[in-house]
Amino acid sequence: MRLAVAGFQHETNSFAGTVATRSDFDRPGGWPPFCAAGDMARIIAPSGTPAAGAMGEAEQAGVDIVPLLWCIGLPSGPVEDDAFEDIAGDICSRFRAALSDGLDGLYLDLHGAMVTPSFPDAEGELLARLRRIAPAPFPISVSFDLHGNISQSMVRDCTVLECYRTYPHVDLRETGARAMRRLIGVLQGEAAPHMAYRPVPYLASINDQCTFVEPTRGLLGKAEELESGEGIDRISQFFGFPLADVPDSGPAVVVQGKDAGKVEQVADTMLAAWLAAEPHFANELAPAAVAVAEARRLAAAPGSGPVVIADTQDNPGGGGTGDTTGMLRALLAGGAAGAVLVHIADEAAALAAHAAGEGATLDIAIGASLSLSHGAPVEGPWQVVRLGSGSFTGIGPMYRGNPIALGPVALLEHGGVRVIVAPRKMQASEPGLLIHLGLQPETLPILVVKSSVHFRGAYQQMARAIIPAIAPGAVEADLSRLPYRHALRKPARALVPPVEEVIPQ
Ligand SMILES: [Zn+2]
Repeated sequence: MRLAVAGFQHETNSFAGTVATRSDFDRPGGWPPFCAAGDMARIIAPSGTPAAGAMGEAEQAGVDIVPLLWCIGLPSGPVEDDAFEDIAGDICSRFRAALSDGLDGLYLDLHGAMVTPSFPDAEGELLARLRRIAPAPFPISVSFDLHGNISQSMVRDCTVLECYRTYPHVDLRETGARAMRRLIGVLQGEAAPHMAYRPVPYLASINDQCTFVEPTRGLLGKAEELESGEGIDRISQFFGFPLADVPDSGPAVVVQGKDAGKVEQVADTMLAAWLAAEPHFANELAPAAVAVAEARRLAAAPGSGPVVIADTQDNPGGGGTGDTTGMLRALLAGGAAGAVLVHIADEAAALAAHAAGEGATLDIAIGASLSLSHGAPVEGPWQVVRLGSGSFTGIGPMYRGNPIALGPVALLEHGGVRVIVAPRKMQASEPGLLIHLGLQPETLPILVVKSSVHFRGAYQQMARAIIPAIAPGAVEADLSRLPYRHALRKPARALVPPVEEVIPQ
């Protein structure tokens, strides 16, 4: 048995004001670099990616892998047409060549919320091109991110599909392994499943999607219960990525199984559960100044572990630039001495710190070089506390095993507030970066992370408290404020009033 493996991931925030170019797929912060053919096994196998899980599963099953190409770009504005054509074209030509050498199936590691100027459903377009090369019933198995805005056409072109079940995503390798296991199953004679697709008629903010809490925890529990029934192979729940302004934006349920009638019935049951859950997609978010004051109060009380403030609207994992300064300003204005902010993407500041050396004082302003509309740089003077190469291996539940190469990083301090600067952005869900700079996250009084939910994978258990907070940024938490033009669904009608009215003072 010979199975091809390819991956091409991007999550597109239509409102980010940026674009992803071809070079953005070369060395994305926190993830393996672009790789192809013979390099793929060496680079991907030790990583925490779905493709690594799939390749490991294939190896265990004694299946020959034909590596095609794998790459990921950090979430941002749309992927440029040239970049999409270059990478999608490369995958297709490698796939065609592998087919002519004899191939039994294809596994794909995709996201599901990639947008280009020409294709609002970019994964649907890639799958359609692959299907023109290898029409059904040639087996294609795909693992998606649960933030995929899954379309009818994507579902049509997959033989089997899987998506992550956790947000924070801590089951990437397992999801890839499941997709590979099911692909092998089809090749060993299992019938391809019937698929039922149900788009959910509202958008859910990513802040309300954490699977540690309701309503998503209950929806996953409901699916697990129904999945144990006869004739049902899998219930995949896509929470969607609401910052992609495209017609297919929004959650969807895909049920797969042998018994078509039962599959359709279970899909209806799951859709009803999503409709009932709509009023519960609501979360309380504190304005930055309120969050800092509350964090100081909690940190001064008896207890252990850091108070973690989530700077959700500059989450690089949602398309934020990772360099806004609203939360840093709030820490300084609020007198949050001892607090650490991880991290601000500012290449000039990181290089200046390395040129000056540890102990030096920099008379520079940091941040806001990319996010011009979300606040100004923060003036120093900044003291250089610690320098690092920015190269280390991920240890957190999301990035474990990933070779992380951020470039020269520095820990700076001003007014008792410390901030990490790095040349590139990366979601703050990796404690390895703090340890790399001599910090022990569990001993910090206040830790500010540029993240919406993924940080919980690393910090939920050690945190004394978690305060999701809002400062200006491109990852809008309140979807009703966004100028949608193409999305067909409206934000969930939540029970709680607007954020400003619900924060305890
Ligand atoms: Zn995701």
